[in-house]
Amino acid sequence: MHIPFAIPGCRIERVVEQDPDRLVVPMRRRGASGRCPDCGGTGRSVHSRYHRHPADLPLSASRTVLRIEVRRFSCFNPSCHRRTFAESPSELLSRRARRTRRLA
Ligand SMILES: [Zn+2]
Repeated sequence: MHIPFAIPGCRIERVVEQDPDRLVVPMRRRGASGRCPDCGGTGRSVHSRYHRHPADLPLSASRTVLRIEVRRFSCFNPSCHRRTFAESPSELLSRRARRTRRLA
């Protein structure tokens, strides 16, 4: 299924129909690196990955949930106290949000 809208900064992999009234859109952030929120350094080494599942705008009258793969990068700056940090899809949703900004 083609999704008829873009998600800022992200690549959509495919749309999965979980049940008749719910669509799940797996996606991941574009780019090969993240920026450490403390020192501003660039992290390219992926430490781990996890998923967030915010609700998004309905598509064809179906509830839509994004399945965003979030990468946690290592910060190797010796003067930075942070060892790892997660990339932030901040244009799409705020920290800990369960709904995208455009749905909220
Ligand atoms: Zn850092």
